[in-house]
Amino acid sequence: MTNTALDFGMNVFNEKKMQERLPKATYKALKKTIENGESLDLSVANVVANAMKDWAVENGCTHYTHWFQPMTGITAEKHDSFISPNGDGEIIMEFSGKELIKGEPDASSFPSGGIRATFEARGYTTWDPTSPAFIRDKTLYIPTAFCSYTGEVLDKKTPLLRSMEKLSGEAVKVLNLLGKKDVYRVTTTVGPEQEYFLIDKEMYDKRPDLIYTGRTLFGAMAPKGQELADHYFGSIKTRVSDFMHDLDAELWKLGVLAKTKHNEVAPSQHELAPIFSTSNIATDHNELTMEVMKKTAEKHGLVCLLHEKPFAGVNGSGKHNNWSISTNTGENLLNPGKKPEENLQFQLFLSAVVKAVDEYQDLLRITVASAGNDHRLGANEAPPAIISMYLGDDLGALVESIIEGKDYKSHKADRMQTGVEALPDFKKDNSDRNRTSPFAFTGNKFEFRALGSSLNIACPNYMLNTMVAEELKGFYSELKDADDLDAALKALIRKVLTEHKRIIFNGDNYSDEWVEEAEKRGLCNYKSLPEAMEHYIDKKNVDLFEKNGIVTEAEMHARYEIELEQYSKLLNIEALTMLQMAKKDIAPAVMAFVKSLAETVSLKKGVSSSLSTFAEEQLLESLSDKLEEFVKKTDELDNAVKMAGGYSDNLTLAKYYRNTVFELMQELRSLGDSMEKETYSEYWPYPSYGEILFGV
Ligand code: ADP
Ligand code: MG
Repeated sequence: MTNTALDFGMNVFNEKKMQERLPKATYKALKKTIENGESLDLSVANVVANAMKDWAVENGCTHYTHWFQPMTGITAEKHDSFISPNGDGEIIMEFSGKELIKGEPDASSFPSGGIRATFEARGYTTWDPTSPAFIRDKTLYIPTAFCSYTGEVLDKKTPLLRSMEKLSGEAVKVLNLLGKKDVYRVTTTVGPEQEYFLIDKEMYDKRPDLIYTGRTLFGAMAPKGQELADHYFGSIKTRVSDFMHDLDAELWKLGVLAKTKHNEVAPSQHELAPIFSTSNIATDHNELTMEVMKKTAEKHGLVCLLHEKPFAGVNGSGKHNNWSISTNTGENLLNPGKKPEENLQFQLFLSAVVKAVDEYQDLLRITVASAGNDHRLGANEAPPAIISMYLGDDLGALVESIIEGKDYKSHKADRMQTGVEALPDFKKDNSDRNRTSPFAFTGNKFEFRALGSSLNIACPNYMLNTMVAEELKGFYSELKDADDLDAALKALIRKVLTEHKRIIFNGDNYSDEWVEEAEKRGLCNYKSLPEAMEHYIDKKNVDLFEKNGIVTEAEMHARYEIELEQYSKLLNIEALTMLQMAKKDIAPAVMAFVKSLAETVSLKKGVSSSLSTFAEEQLLESLSDKLEEFVKKTDELDNAVKMAGGYSDNLTLAKYYRNTVFELMQELRSLGDSMEKETYSEYWPYPSYGEILFGV
């Protein structure tokens, strides 16, 4: 029997392979770039390119691709072969440093939010040596950043890399000031937990809504949903477990540290969590994970749904972004240690996060906004659209004692005693879980839980990194000239926690009381993408990114336009799909059923006037009424979609889609679903929720 774990990293040009295949000096230079962000010269790149190519060709590759993350929300790739004519009608396989470093995909078909109109269509991809190259489908994949001819950022990776640099710089200054002179680099780490649905391909193929939009636009709830919670952590079905084994094997070959897998709350829903890595690699790996999930599902006759809300009435899918900061000396800066009350360094970094999350709560909300995630946030399953922080009993008590200047009494958990002799006792975690908080402290990291399942995690992470960097910069300038550093530190921590304690909330985030309370505290509550996105370009936010050199004001405006435009386009596709389903499938199906009912009534009456036609007539009446309403609502939606052509401003258009088109879609859906419940299943054109959710 083969052990797939032994193939870990097989398809990655990783450290070990670099060490084996590169001359010592080249390896050293490359490592400096990877670990310390030092720039790399062309002569080194030439040697690396050749070694990479040799390795790739030995492993069956004929092509290479610059792999990048444009604003479409998915990754992009353009494949070039290694071949080069050698003059006598034959070819050799070649790959230069220049080709490794720079690619030139045509930028004109990628969203640029207006940047393209004023500048050239030319775009460049640039090798990102900090994320290792890998092989997929006989192609060498090179992770790259993407920008326009004139240098405007057109992707999600570049701001992330910049924000990591920025945070490192600011954190190092603070740590050096605190006496940690051996720290020269600080890295943000991320472990993203990924939720997904797995359904049968045959069912999927019968649903235009799933095919075009990734979610069901109609569908009456099955008699059973998730109320028994019998799926969560339940034993994994063979077909799913085969898929998961295959998925792990594929991911391991690509160097992705896939670690945990289990069934989630909703039927057919599952989760995969990797072991954390640097934010940059975690982002690339999460993108890869989502792609490999989809491809692996196909091999098993399944479809992997990454939409945030594929099914109404059962939980949607999210992503938990576990985030922390650690030093080149191996210290996790968010680890409270044994005595957090004495650990001023920890308290300072904690304060930076608290201040950042409070001052830029709008940005954290904005970064998780999407048409799909709008179905989750604020619904009774996911964190609300209000951003707050959970610190747990222990840290909560510490923060309170600091603010009030009182002694701190540890709430630290002791040992867990099961009361069964045979079971070993163990140390409990310091805090229980608060599953309802959008931003929770979990021991030595923060878990940002409001992300939608399909989101590229580069965005939330570059925002987090930048806002924390900004706070650290402020802290440094307040502390750097202090005569008594200890006293200055304590005063600063106390001031910051006092000023920003409104963002800390340890209660139930799903309750109505919290919505009221949050409003009193002045926290923002943006319910949908258009409402949230409007604030992305607020002056405070533009200042944050401009001052820190992450993205420019022009780039932010471009991003703003892109997000709004994509939102409207998505809703338009959903509305058109609904209209098609309503007109071509649902209405005709109900008409056919109504006809058969009517025919039965008259047939029965022809046989004998004493035969009861009560059942048929009752159904006939109910469905005829509903059908009338349904057809009228379809017309209304049709007209509303046509009206959308009249708006040219992206924000107004997005709001129109949200407030008018989307509302009509909801109404049409509810009429359709109520007809589904009364229509003989032989007539209903689509597989039901029950068949889909319990079909694997
Ligand atoms: P849960 O959230 O269910 O309690 P875990 O505690 O196992 O799960 O962790 C969830 C994720 O957090 C994993 O991907 C793990 O690798 C990641 N994680 C753990 N430590 C860190 C860290 N220092 N930085 C970033 N992510 C981390
Ligand atoms: Mg978690």
